[in-house]
Amino acid sequence: MIVGIDLGTTHSAVGVVDSGFPILLADEEGRRIMPSAVWYGEQGDIEVGRKAMRRRGLDPMRVVTSVKRWMGVPPGDPILENVGKSAEEVSAEILRELKRIAEWRLGELVEKAVITVPAYFNDGQRAATKRAGELAGLEVVRILNEPTAAALAYGMDKLKDRTRIAVYDLGGGTFDLTILEMEDGVFQVLATHGDTRLGGDDVDRLIFDWMAEGIYDFPQERRIKFLEEAERAKRMLSDEDAVTLRLPFYDGTSSFEKILTRKDLNRITKGWIERTLKCSRQAMMDSGLKVEELDAVVLVGGCTRMPAVREAVAGFFKMKVDVTQHPDEAIALGAAIQAGVMSGSMRKIVLLDVTPLSLGIETFGGLMNVIIARNTTIPCKAGEMFANAADGQEKMRVRVLQGEREMARDNWELGNFEVGMEILPKGRARVGVQFKIDADGILEVLAREISTGRDVIMKIESSAVNVDDAAVEAMVSASVEYAFEDISERIFTEARIKAEELIPAVEMILSNGLVDGSEAKEIEESLAAVKTAMSRGGANLLKAAVQKLDLATEGVAAKLVEKAMEEALAREMVI
Ligand code: AMP
Repeated sequence: MIVGIDLGTTHSAVGVVDSGFPILLADEEGRRIMPSAVWYGEQGDIEVGRKAMRRRGLDPMRVVTSVKRWMGVPPGDPILENVGKSAEEVSAEILRELKRIAEWRLGELVEKAVITVPAYFNDGQRAATKRAGELAGLEVVRILNEPTAAALAYGMDKLKDRTRIAVYDLGGGTFDLTILEMEDGVFQVLATHGDTRLGGDDVDRLIFDWMAEGIYDFPQERRIKFLEEAERAKRMLSDEDAVTLRLPFYDGTSSFEKILTRKDLNRITKGWIERTLKCSRQAMMDSGLKVEELDAVVLVGGCTRMPAVREAVAGFFKMKVDVTQHPDEAIALGAAIQAGVMSGSMRKIVLLDVTPLSLGIETFGGLMNVIIARNTTIPCKAGEMFANAADGQEKMRVRVLQGEREMARDNWELGNFEVGMEILPKGRARVGVQFKIDADGILEVLAREISTGRDVIMKIESSAVNVDDAAVEAMVSASVEYAFEDISERIFTEARIKAEELIPAVEMILSNGLVDGSEAKEIEESLAAVKTAMSRGGANLLKAAVQKLDLATEGVAAKLVEKAMEEALAREMVI
């Protein structure tokens, strides 16, 4: 038995395939969706889900919510620190409760699970999710991207020969837009883009700000009460035109009462919705598709119940949006389907995901050398050969990078290690570097010293922990924003490396009088031009100058090679 779990920022759910159909498993109160909240009592007692939420009014500092935001990133949440738990431990409590519900419903032991994560989770965050599962006593047989899960749930009864779907997932804390293609029952993610700090919580805060006008004192407890009222109003306004926000005697004496209309809400949230469309635009660009080429747009996540969101999405994609799926349940149902496929209780569907950001290593001159490009279908494997940068270099440091920028320093370092090299002249010792990403999106880097065949292998799991996932969005926009500067710097750096190789060789040619007349003059002039371009710094200027110098020395270079060969032959004859 394998269960499918949606471990959400605000809510979680567990499901299985039963008689060929995916279903969610309800708790003793008949609820299929559980708040992702954990209460840690002073005496070490723990409560999870709805019971934990009930504690929030009285004991807010001991109730952990939205823990998913802290998965695989350095601790920073005051409540997490207050209760002395890690994000993984808290998530494990949520998973343990879901496991308990499943075992109670199914009447058998549950030890394996498929768990979903946002498409934007990096290696560290995926590994942390896996560890949380293990802490809860679950073997995580697959980490599944949430949009893929949603598409699975959507695709169940609508599969035709070829379908292209956009999944717009706006939950409590994260947003993704993913473009998937389904062909002959095979799913492929064409592109994905998102923001891991964009969701319904922001709307609650926007309403809170609107409410808080004129009130200055907000102790934690009061803040939570106001936020809860804001969240209630937001939900109500998905069905009503206006709602009265009420907090009687919130500080013992004064009461709060104010009417919020849907129109007000639409105005307050306009910029917020715009941010989701900006991500959507990027994903569409990455996929290379036009919106007209999509067959459907599936809405997932609680916030897609907001009429303004639905309208904006329909406008953007120029089509009616698909709301047949229960937006809160689609991901867990998809996870259940994947679990069903893996346990054999469901027809096999192959699932393919993509890398959200490019992966590579640093090479000469501090450049990023991409080995696996962004949006590559996983699982995947790719490699490249690297040579020593200096004579007699004893080892090479492999810095593993993730990001879209041309210069290594602008990307994230996921980890680094050293590999020994054979002592040889520059460019002769070789190291093969291979990147492998498994179906769970976990990266393994292998470096092989060619002459000895010695391998150094690094698994990037924990070293990715230092990466702040909020920066994913910033990374992609920065790569667009600095595209011009970045490419100039790359051109300049590559030309500079070439120039640094050429200059001493050319100077040697000139000083040894190997050339004369007009040829010598041309080489001298070209050399001077390269030196000037190097100090003044124009990328294209330097590139052109280097090319000219290369060309000018072509004749003499060929002669030199000939001469070297003659010398070698002569030596051999002496021997
Ligand atoms: P999810 O992470 O998918 O569970 O989405 C939760 C988010 O959806 C939270 O911010 C909820 O406040 C929000 N939400 C749930 N129901 C509604 C609704 N009817 N209208 C607007 N927002 C909702």
